[in-house]
Amino acid sequence: MGKRGGTWMAAWLALGAMLAAGAQAGVQSDPVHDGAPAAAPLLVLHGGAGVERGSLAAAEEAAARQALARALQAGHAVLREGGAALDAVTAAIAVLEDAPEFNAGRGAVFTHDGHNALDAAVMDGASGRAGAIAGVRRVRNPIRLARAVMEASPHVMLAGEGAEAFAAARGIELVDPSWFRTDKRWRQLQQARAREQGQAATAPAHPYFGTVGAVALDARGGLAAGTSTGGMTNKRWGRIGDSPIIGAGTWADARCAVSGTGWGEYYIRAAAAHEICARVRLAGQPLVQAAAEVINRDIPAAGGNGGAIALGADGSIALPFNTGGMYRGWIGADGVPHVAVFDEPLPLP
Ligand code: ASP
Repeated sequence: MGKRGGTWMAAWLALGAMLAAGAQAGVQSDPVHDGAPAAAPLLVLHGGAGVERGSLAAAEEAAARQALARALQAGHAVLREGGAALDAVTAAIAVLEDAPEFNAGRGAVFTHDGHNALDAAVMDGASGRAGAIAGVRRVRNPIRLARAVMEASPHVMLAGEGAEAFAAARGIELVDPSWFRTDKRWRQLQQARAREQGQAATAPAHPYFGTVGAVALDARGGLAAGTSTGGMTNKRWGRIGDSPIIGAGTWADARCAVSGTGWGEYYIRAAAAHEICARVRLAGQPLVQAAAEVINRDIPAAGGNGGAIALGADGSIALPFNTGGMYRGWIGADGVPHVAVFDEPLPLP
């Protein structure tokens, strides 16, 4: 062994001795946060991949862009104060749920039977904890209920009336179902039902994607993801999409967080959100490449479409989509919101 090799060997032995000493002393190790340098906080949002040029009035587009900026600022306010990624994701999504421009909370699409049935999920990358709800009809902010499932129940996913009973018990705001109704979504249901006439009952009519989602990186280097949706227009038989299914539409781990929007059945079959992060974790793929391959190659190859947002612990951001547009945006340490809708430049940090 040469002199240089011997020096390296000595350094490794010294490092090993230090680690062993730490273990013997019972040092608690937090693989995510211990020794992590303060990260520059980041928040990335989507408001759904179902937007097409020409289908959107100028006033509607302006309102959607403003709502995205408000949501980014709400999440940033949390991160700026040193808050957790999970809190930033929840705050940002709640703003989008209250904005009637998006298919989540108020403004959700209608089921075949003329109801709004809402799904949502959150996941905390540092702890691996997750919460989800499906098919609720009276919860104003489904993302808050998903979070309560994670933090105040022994379960991961609750559905329907049981989920609403849990919401009531937790003091989470319930509203009359008319709160969610917008004329635009009602017209879309009538159009979808008219188009469906003569087609097989199982074939969905034109899908109106509009789900909202957020991923955040906090100052301690922790990641979180959340997604909230009304699902797909004209859905029936209690259909549940990918958004509340952990690993399909929503995922976060120590390195990577993802929220999807698109034709949910294809995202479920691909375990799309988990697949992106698994490629980062197990195959060492750059996040941008992993997201592009899953969203813009694998899902279309299977017959689906849509988009996603992904955020890495290293601050890398991906916003792939293969539809006419995707409401999207990000905000960094300087607190300036960056928003895009169609195929237009969105400078990244
Ligand atoms: N992914 C959602 C679902 O299938 C729809 C959407 O993204 O708007 O329920």
